[in-house]
Amino acid sequence: MKSAQGGRRVHSPPPSRIDPNALEQGVLGRWEREKTFEESLRRRRGGPRYSFYDGPPYATGSPHYGHVLQATIKDAVTRYWTMRGFLVDRRVGWDCHGLPVENLVEKELGIKNKKEIETMGIEKFNAACRASVFRSVDEFQSVLQRMGRWADYRNSYATLDPTYMESVWWVFKQAWEAGLVYNGFRSSPYCPRCATPLSNFEAALGYKETDDPAVTVKLRLADADSTYLLIWTTTPWTLPANVAVAVHPDLRYVQVKVGDEHWILAKDRVADVVGTGYTMREEYAGSQLVGMTYEPLYDFLVPEKAAYRVVAATFVSATEGTGIVHLAPAFGEDDLKTAQTENLPILRTVDENGTFIQGVKPWAGMFVKDADPNILKDLEGRNLLLRSETIRHPYPFCWRCDTPLIYYATNSWFVSVSRIRDRLLANNEQIQWVPEHVKGGRFGQGLKDAPDWAISRSRYWGTPVPVWECSDCGERTVIGSIAELEKNADLTPLYPNGKGKLMDLHRPYIDAVTFPCPKCGKPVQRIPEVFDVWMDAGSMPYAQWHYPFENKALVEETFPADFIAEALDQTRGWFYTLHVLATILTTRDIGLGVGKPAFTHAIVSGLVLAEDGKKLSKRLKNYTDVTEIVRRFGADTLRLYLLSSASIGEDTRISDRLIEGFYRKFTLPLFNVLSFYDMYAKAAGRKPGSSALPLSNRPLLDQWILARAVQLAARVRGEMESYHVDRGARELLPFVDDLSNWYVRRSRKRFSATEHTTDQTAAFVTLEEVLAQFALVAAPLTPFFSEVIFRSVREDRSPHLEDFPEVAEVNTGLLDKMATLRRIVSAGLQARAQAGIKVRQPLPEFNLQENPSFDFIKEPGWRDLLAGEVNVQKVHVGENIHVGEYVRVEITPGVSGQLATALDEGLMHQGIIRDLIRHVQELRKRAGLTVQDTIELAITTDDLAVQEAVRQCEQLLLAETRAKKLAKTLSRVEGTEQVTIHGHPVTLGLRRV
Ligand SMILES: [Zn+2]
Ligand SMILES: [Zn+2]
Repeated sequence: MKSAQGGRRVHSPPPSRIDPNALEQGVLGRWEREKTFEESLRRRRGGPRYSFYDGPPYATGSPHYGHVLQATIKDAVTRYWTMRGFLVDRRVGWDCHGLPVENLVEKELGIKNKKEIETMGIEKFNAACRASVFRSVDEFQSVLQRMGRWADYRNSYATLDPTYMESVWWVFKQAWEAGLVYNGFRSSPYCPRCATPLSNFEAALGYKETDDPAVTVKLRLADADSTYLLIWTTTPWTLPANVAVAVHPDLRYVQVKVGDEHWILAKDRVADVVGTGYTMREEYAGSQLVGMTYEPLYDFLVPEKAAYRVVAATFVSATEGTGIVHLAPAFGEDDLKTAQTENLPILRTVDENGTFIQGVKPWAGMFVKDADPNILKDLEGRNLLLRSETIRHPYPFCWRCDTPLIYYATNSWFVSVSRIRDRLLANNEQIQWVPEHVKGGRFGQGLKDAPDWAISRSRYWGTPVPVWECSDCGERTVIGSIAELEKNADLTPLYPNGKGKLMDLHRPYIDAVTFPCPKCGKPVQRIPEVFDVWMDAGSMPYAQWHYPFENKALVEETFPADFIAEALDQTRGWFYTLHVLATILTTRDIGLGVGKPAFTHAIVSGLVLAEDGKKLSKRLKNYTDVTEIVRRFGADTLRLYLLSSASIGEDTRISDRLIEGFYRKFTLPLFNVLSFYDMYAKAAGRKPGSSALPLSNRPLLDQWILARAVQLAARVRGEMESYHVDRGARELLPFVDDLSNWYVRRSRKRFSATEHTTDQTAAFVTLEEVLAQFALVAAPLTPFFSEVIFRSVREDRSPHLEDFPEVAEVNTGLLDKMATLRRIVSAGLQARAQAGIKVRQPLPEFNLQENPSFDFIKEPGWRDLLAGEVNVQKVHVGENIHVGEYVRVEITPGVSGQLATALDEGLMHQGIIRDLIRHVQELRKRAGLTVQDTIELAITTDDLAVQEAVRQCEQLLLAETRAKKLAKTLSRVEGTEQVTIHGHPVTLGLRRV
C-alpha cells in the first residue's frame, strides 16, 4: 500500500490531457522560428571549443532505434557542454561509398555478379550508386530532428565529395610515405559473390552458427602401400588444392595398425580419431616425419614446385583434428605463410567468383561449398575417406550480401598495423572509454591482436586507391592531391560533363587519367582497386574539412575530438580506423601534434533489442516504428528511456509496453506537476518569479525540495562530466517522484488556499525555483520537456540558452532527516494497514521510541510534517501510549513506534468528513468544474453519525469543497452520486453557483 519512499497516493493523479507530440511540435516550431540552436552557438563564439566528431551513417535506409540511441547520446553530451560555456560545432555527414551501396544497387538492378556490372559499364553502375546514396537523407534528417538532435544539417559533408576524397588520398599518401603501406599476396576473408577481399573486421560482422562437414581423410604415403597420413578439414573443397601437410616438430606422433592399414597421426588424437581397435606400431617426433612424401589426392593442376610432402609448422596443435594439418595455400592464412617459407606451390583451383575453374573438371563452375558432398563421395569411392561428420561452428558470412565467405589469397593493399602496434596501444591510454572495460577489452585487446588492415577492395563505388603503376618497369606512383596529379596528367577525363563543371574522382573517369612513368617514361595506369569504406570513415576528422588543403587552423584546433559516440561493433570499425589513421598522422608533427588518438572520450552504446531479447527485425515486425512511438509518448520519453534503462554498453530492450510504463512513471507525473502549477498560478494570478524569498523563511518541505534540486544538479553534472550519461539520466526519475509524490502532494493545500499568504507565496516561489532548476539540469537529456517547463516558470526564456547550474553545497543534513522521516512515515502507514484503518481516518497519536536519530522529530516543523503524513493528532518521541489500543511497528532494527488506534467521537467525525470531502472533490472533477468554481452541496443520508459529523465539521467541509452552503435538496444538479460512508449509503449532489 505504500511506495518504498514512504510516499502514498491518496489522490489519484488527475486524468492526463497532455499530448506529448503536440507539445514537442510546438517546441520544434519555436526552435525553428527563434533559431534557438544557432543562437546557442552564437552565444558561445569566442569561448573555448569543445570538439565533437559525428560518425557518418549510410542514408540509404531509414534510421533505426540504434541510430536514435546514438543520436540521443551525441545530442545530450553536446548540449551539456554548450550549457557549460563551450562552443560545440556539430556537423553531420553521410557515408556514401562501399559494399552496402553497391549491394543495394545490384539488387535493384537485378545484377548477380561483377561480370554483369562490367557488361553494363562502371559508369552506369556508379551513376546508379550515386543516385541512391542520398535517397533517405530527408527521412534520416527528419527523424533525428524530431528526436531533438541539434546539429548543422544544412552544412553536412558527404564522403563522395571530391574534396573529401582528395583528403582521403592525402591521408593514404602520409601512410605510404611513412612506409606503412604495402601490396601483398595474402590470404584474407573473401566474399565470392562480391568478389572482393574483406577486412577481418568485416568478416567478424557476419559470423553465424553453421553446419559444415568435418572429415578425416587418408593420404597414402609414397612407396608404402598401406600407410596413410590422416588429415582433418571442415572445407573439403580446399582438398583439390592441397600441396602439403604440416606437423608440429615437437609433438609426438604414432603409427597405428587398424585392420590391414597403418595410420599416422598425433599420439594425443588417437583416442578421439581411432578409438580402441588398433595396435601401436611406432612412435616418432614430428620432426622425424618432415620430408616424407605422399600421393596427391587430386592431379587437376600440376604443381610447379616440389609438393605433397610433410613440412614443419609451429601453429599445428593436437587440440583438434589429427595433429596433421592439410595445407591449401590459396585458401588459408597459415597455409600461405607456410607456403612462402617452405617454397611450396600455390594451386588456384577456384576463380574469383568462388567456383571451381575449368581445370577441376568434375566440378568446374560449381560454387565451392556446393561441391563439398561430391568431393566426399569421390573420396569415399576411392577409400580415402576415413570419417565424415557434421559440426556446428561459427562461420563468417558477407556482412552485406550474406554469402558464406572463404579464405582466398589475392593481391591486395595493406596498412601495416603490426608496425605501429606499440603506438596504437600508447595512444589508447589517452582515451576515456565508457563503459570502461572497452579500453582494455574489446578495443585494447583488438589493437593487440589486429592483423594488418586490408584497405583495398576489388570493387567500383568507392574512393579510388591513388596508385598508378607502370606495366613496363613496375614503378608505383602514389598521388596525394589533385594538384599533384594535375602536374603530370591531363585531367579532362575527370570532367564527364565538361570542363568547368563538377569534378568526379570516381571510377571509371579516374581510370582514364594517365601520365608518363617517372622512371621509364611509359604511360602508367591506375590500379583498379578502390578503398575499404572504413578508410573514408577513419579519414573523417581531416576529410570533412578538406584538410590540409583548406581549414588547416580549424582542423588542427579541433583535433583530437573531445568526444565521439557509436555502437559497440565500431570498436573494430570506425573507432578503430579513426585510431589507426590518427596514430599514423601523428607519428611526426605535420600540424596535428605528436602521438595523439583521434578522440579522448568515447561512449560506446549497446544494441537495442526487442523486449524478449530478440533482434529488432523488419521481417518479424517485432517493434513499433520510431515515429509512431514518438507520436504517442513524445521524443523525450523515448530519449530518457533509451538513456536510462540500460547501462551504457549493455543492450537496451524496447517494446510499447516498456515505453508506456516509463511514460507513466516519468512523463505523466512530471506534466501533472506542471499542470498543477499552471492551474493554481493562474488561479492565484501569479507572475512567475515575481517575489524573492529567503530560504530561512520557508517551511521545511520547501527547504528540502530545494536541497534535493541542488543535489540533483550536482549529481547530474558529475555524471555528465565523466560521460556517464546513463547514470545522469537515471537521476531524473527519483527526483520527479520526490517532487510529485512528496513535495507537491504534501503542499497541495498551500497552493489552493484562497487567501494569498506568505506561505502560499513561499510555495509558488519554491516550486518555480525547483522546476526551473530541474529544467536546466534535464535540458541536455529531455530538451523538449525542459523547454516547456522552463518557459512556464521563467517568463518564456529557453533553458538551452542558459548555463548549466553551478555546483552549490548540498544540505545533506536536511536530506538525511527527510529520508529518516519518510522511513518513519512508511512504518506508520504499515501500522495502519495492520490495524485495517484507512489513511483518511485521523488517529490520536504516534509515539516513537527514544533514539538519537529521531531527535529532530521533536522540532515542531518536522513533528507536524510527520503527524500530517501519518494523519495523527500528536507525535511524541520517548513516550508510551497510555490509554487504549495501539499497534507496535518496527521503524529501524531495534527501534519501534506505537500507533494508537482508539477513536473517540471527534476523530470518527473527522474521518467521515475526510471521506465526504474526497467524494465531493471527485464529483466536482467529473462534473467538469474548475478549481475556482464554487458550489452548493447537498448531502442526504439516514446515518446519524454522518449527519452529526456534517453538523460538527460544516465549516471545514464547506471550505475544502469550495461550497457556499449546504442545501437540503437541490433542484438542478451538475453532479450527483451515491456513495458509501461509514458503512451507510450517502447521496451527494452539487450545483455550480
Ligand atoms: Zn558479399
Ligand atoms: Zn616505368
